[in-house]
Amino acid sequence: MFNKILIANRGEIALRVIRACQEMGIQTVAVHSTADSDAMHVRMANESVCIGPPSSLGSYLSMPAILAACEISGAQAIHPGYGFLSENSNFVQAVEDHGLRFIGPTAEHIRVMGDKITAKDTMGALGVPCVPGSIGGVDSLSEAHKIASKIGYPVIIKATAGGGGRGMKVAKSAYELENAFSTARAEGKAAFGNEEVYIEKYLTTPRHIEIQVFGDGNGGAVHLGERDCSLQRRHQKILEEAPGPCISKKEREIIGKICADAIAKIDYIGAGTIEFLYENGEFYFIEMNTRLQVEHPVTEAIFGVDLVREQIRVAAGQPLSFEQDKLKINGHSIEVRINAEKLPNFSPSPGKVTAYHAPGGLGVRMDSALYNGYSIPPYYDSLIGKLIVHGENRNEAMARLRRSLSELIIDGVDTTIPLFDELLNEDDIINGDYNIHWLEKWLEQRVQ
Ligand code: ADP
Repeated sequence: MFNKILIANRGEIALRVIRACQEMGIQTVAVHSTADSDAMHVRMANESVCIGPPSSLGSYLSMPAILAACEISGAQAIHPGYGFLSENSNFVQAVEDHGLRFIGPTAEHIRVMGDKITAKDTMGALGVPCVPGSIGGVDSLSEAHKIASKIGYPVIIKATAGGGGRGMKVAKSAYELENAFSTARAEGKAAFGNEEVYIEKYLTTPRHIEIQVFGDGNGGAVHLGERDCSLQRRHQKILEEAPGPCISKKEREIIGKICADAIAKIDYIGAGTIEFLYENGEFYFIEMNTRLQVEHPVTEAIFGVDLVREQIRVAAGQPLSFEQDKLKINGHSIEVRINAEKLPNFSPSPGKVTAYHAPGGLGVRMDSALYNGYSIPPYYDSLIGKLIVHGENRNEAMARLRRSLSELIIDGVDTTIPLFDELLNEDDIINGDYNIHWLEKWLEQRVQ
């Protein structure tokens, strides 16, 4: 096992990793920008290294700075958290070239899954059901027209290198195709330096269902059921729950096994998430995330496991401690993402937190790096906390979520807390009856 791990991240996820390390008796090294000198992850780690200026490019995304911090501190492994360098195959290669361990999959797995077309081809060949669409990239508008009329409108044009909901355009008819095609290409080029696009059937009322998987790197793999992350704004998740309100035990077993078998065949190592759109009882693969997800705690809650501990164990060469038959679901868990954002436009709201009080009690977990008097810097993601509840069933989890939200105090900045206060009184949310478009429609009606 490692003696010392460097966490190449900040905020709540850096804390999450530090906590797992502390329980395993592993020393931790925090890295931080000059804007984060007073951040909680710096205070909680055993050591810290300043790696650069506030801008992420010069700090949390700087490979030389992070590798130098490992050298200085003597850390043997790097946990990337999510975002930043977590899915950068060049970084993983550099880490390994320096004789260090990357806590995550291999550079090759990240590379394959990072390219959406290769990912889809690979998953399709491994028996994972995919959204009907083009095979590979689409280079010309005439080819796009041919494919779109074959699969039927509406279609979605996606940039191969896209991410975070960028580089995707919907065309409802042949008339809209030209514009969607050129815009998706332009966005792909501007944001990711790659104008290649592909076409998929646009599903009109799907849910976002993702399967948590774990591999040992030697052909052993398990799944830990699904999370329903359908409540999204601009393709960004805001509430996640597990198990999915609309997924049966049988469906879970079937799709779970398909996913576990697929990653076993490619000797995948570590945590991964296989994302699907789910409509009329069918699953359609959209992408695989080769890292820990923001919403991993809902899976931890219902299975009673520590996913970060498991990531560290397998990276250190230990066998999986999860056995498929022993992984049993207990109750229901819901997470809400608390962002420092001002409603109704969700504009960033950085600044000083004048009062902070986290909720507590049975089945309540608050993952946050906030403290009284902390100044939320304007340079990074607006996620400032995740409130996760666990109950015997969905009704109990909902009641617990309402109760704990009423205890949560974050003063001094605007947050998304009032949004959840409202959402949790909506019948569709109470009944678990929502798809990926529900929130956007609800927000539109609310403004009118
Ligand atoms: P990103 O990498 O940008 O997150 P994804 O491929 O994971 O892109 O898609 C993000 C979201 O876009 C999905 O959760 C879903 O809401 C929507 N989406 C993607 N593909 C389709 C599709 N074929 N039909 C309908 N919605 C889609």
